[in-house]
Parts: sequence; C-alpha cells; structure tokens
Amino acid sequence: MITCLVCSTKNDDAAVICSSCGSYLQERVPNLDFFPMIWKMIESPRVALRRVLVAEHKNYVLFLNLFFGIALSFALLWLRHAGNEFDNLIYLLLLGIFIGLLLAYPLGMGAVYGIHALAKLFSGKGTVRNTYAVIGWSLTPIMLSVVFVLPIELASMGLLLFTTNPSALEVKPAVFSSLAGLDVIAVLWSVYLAATGVHIAHKLNFVWALLIVLFVMIVLFSGIYALFAALVV
Ligand SMILES: [Zn+2]
Repeated sequence: MITCLVCSTKNDDAAVICSSCGSYLQERVPNLDFFPMIWKMIESPRVALRRVLVAEHKNYVLFLNLFFGIALSFALLWLRHAGNEFDNLIYLLLLGIFIGLLLAYPLGMGAVYGIHALAKLFSGKGTVRNTYAVIGWSLTPIMLSVVFVLPIELASMGLLLFTTNPSALEVKPAVFSSLAGLDVIAVLWSVYLAATGVHIAHKLNFVWALLIVLFVMIVLFSGIYALFAALVV
C-alpha cells in the first residue's frame, strides 16, 4: 500500500497516481530499459518486478518470450533425442529455431492467461496486463541461458547433445553436467521470478503463487511435449 501524501488515501503498490486526488505517488516509469532491467532482475528481483508493474509501457516482453520458445524447443529436441534422426547439426539447429519461434507466442500467452485465470480463482488482485508483464520479465534467466549457455553447449557437444548412442553425459560428463546445471539454475530462477511477480502483482501468498506457476507450466509443458512427440520427433 502507498499512502497519498496529499489526501492520505491508501493506494495500490503499483499505482502511480492517487485514485482519490490524482497526485503522483511515486516516480513515473514510462519505459523499461533492457540492460539495466536485466541487471536488476539478478541483483534485486523484487525491486525489478515492482518496476515492471509500475511501468507504463511493458517493453521487451514479446522479445523475451521468443527466447522462451527457443529454449523450450531445444529442450524438447533434447528430451526426444532428435539427434538420432539427424546427421547434420545445422538442420537440427534450424528446426529448433523455427519451432521455437512458432511456439513462443501461443506458449507465452497460454502461460499468461492460465496463470492469470488461476490467480483470479484464488482472489488475486492483479490485471492481465500486469500478469503479462511480470511473467514476461521473469523469463530473463532463460533468455540469458539461450544467449550464453546454449551456444557453448552446441559448440562443445554439437549433435552429441541430442543423441543417446552414445549420449553427451557418457562422452563428456563434466562439460554436459556443468552446462546442463546452468540451464537448470536458469529455469529455477525464472520460476522463482514468476512466482514472486504473481505474488506481488496479485497480492497472493508466495507459496500459492509458486504452485499456480508450477501447475500451469507443467500442464502447458505436458501438452506441448505430447504435440511435439506426435508431430515432430
Ligand atoms: Zn491523494
């Protein structure tokens, strides 16, 4: 709650203008700047997520979402051992990027609307726009893993990363485990950010917010996995 200094009305944390007298309650955030926000998501996530809520323009959400699609697409290719079907890494890469871009928007919107509907069911107070903004920005660690970890994985393990005979874990255990470990950390960090974002935006208990995020992600992932297994590899 923010108490208006002019008329003492209590306002929502994400409010910029007092609902009663129209005075400014906090600094205006017209836009979200990419690099400072990325850093803030690592350094002080709660401050960063509040900034996302207050911002007038929810910049970069669709951009971050594209990386989410690509991360998921390569995770599916890995889970389905797609490398066994390919003899050239380039084709697998192109397929991964193509499917990732195709999946990104429906996946992101599915996650936002699913999480928003459940949050509302548990009497969440946030708007769809703010759910969209916090979920989008919570993808920061996944974006970082696609930009920094995925290229190293592809360069060091190549097609081997996606095969079972032998698997990357058998051939390069140290490289595989450390890079896959970084991916796991990125996913956990994103889940933490998403739950914190839903907790702040909807004024829900953190544990409930976390369960909502996990539930929606598991349902979406299972659906996409089944679709991918039926249509791709
Ligand atoms: Zn006021």
